[in-house]
Amino acid sequence: MTATQFICPNHDKILISQCLSNCPHCIRCMAKPTLETLAKSVADRKLGKKYSVTELISGTREQYLKKTTDYAIDPQDHIFAMHGSAVHSICEHSTSSNVITELRLDNDIYTGQIDSYGDVLGNGRKILLDYKVTSSYKAMIALGYYREDLPTGEVYKTGLKKGQPKMKKVWRTDGVKKLFEWAIQVNAYRLLLEEHNFPVDDMYIQVYVRDYSLRMASERNIDKPMYLLHINRISDQWLYRYFTAKKALLDTALSSGTVPGFCSARESWSGRKCADYCDVYEECRKLYEAAQPVAKPKVA
Ligand code: SF4
Ligand code: SF4
Repeated sequence: MTATQFICPNHDKILISQCLSNCPHCIRCMAKPTLETLAKSVADRKLGKKYSVTELISGTREQYLKKTTDYAIDPQDHIFAMHGSAVHSICEHSTSSNVITELRLDNDIYTGQIDSYGDVLGNGRKILLDYKVTSSYKAMIALGYYREDLPTGEVYKTGLKKGQPKMKKVWRTDGVKKLFEWAIQVNAYRLLLEEHNFPVDDMYIQVYVRDYSLRMASERNIDKPMYLLHINRISDQWLYRYFTAKKALLDTALSSGTVPGFCSARESWSGRKCADYCDVYEECRKLYEAAQPVAKPKVA
């Protein structure tokens, strides 16, 4: 199953095919070519029985519902995902003979598309590079930026804080890099390359920050449109264990028709993803409500 309907601005649902052939409203909510591209991007990619790396990293319940139900998406919610695809197509052309772009590989567990591989940074090393378009908030935490209070050397001379040291906020760039999912994803691609005899010396993500010019971004110490982020190696054994377990969970759920439990806190971003960013939120909520016990009438 797949996304079959668009949600119009007035909350009506319409088959994607019907929207594309004839919008029933007096004016389209966005340009038809944009909607066509969007329709293509959410269509089932027909990867056969193989799951993609991103499918296995996301919640098992989310993937189960995406694969077993027809659902509706709001085109507005998918515009930034399209920016990601646009960046990929801009970057997929390379004249360099020692750089490979958009290479799809698979193994027994998953399939994945490598954005760029080769001497992409001109330092003679075999580099796996992935592109990401994201927000300044996500860039800030992925880069490990944080603010710390440091004494200025002065003290308050009057007021409630008299005698206490004056502090100033300074940016630090040596914090914990919160990029767990990105690291798993890029390492999964690294494993694919190495399994196909493409050695990998280093891994990087080229992060494009879509809101870098806003004041909010500079308040997060983000002042450039693009950052290059080094990704550390994760052990192959850990990766095999993780992806084998996630695949088994999804396989079992699909073959038995048993709806998996709610996505974990990490998979659902501590619940923030559910109502605002999950395409199958409605289906997930309906199943939850149907599973609730019916309240028995009180006996007088
Ligand atoms: S173009 Fe927009 S408003 Fe018109 S049918 Fe499609 S989603 Fe709805
Ligand atoms: S709504 Fe939340 S719990 Fe349900 S599938 Fe989506 S992310 Fe998972």
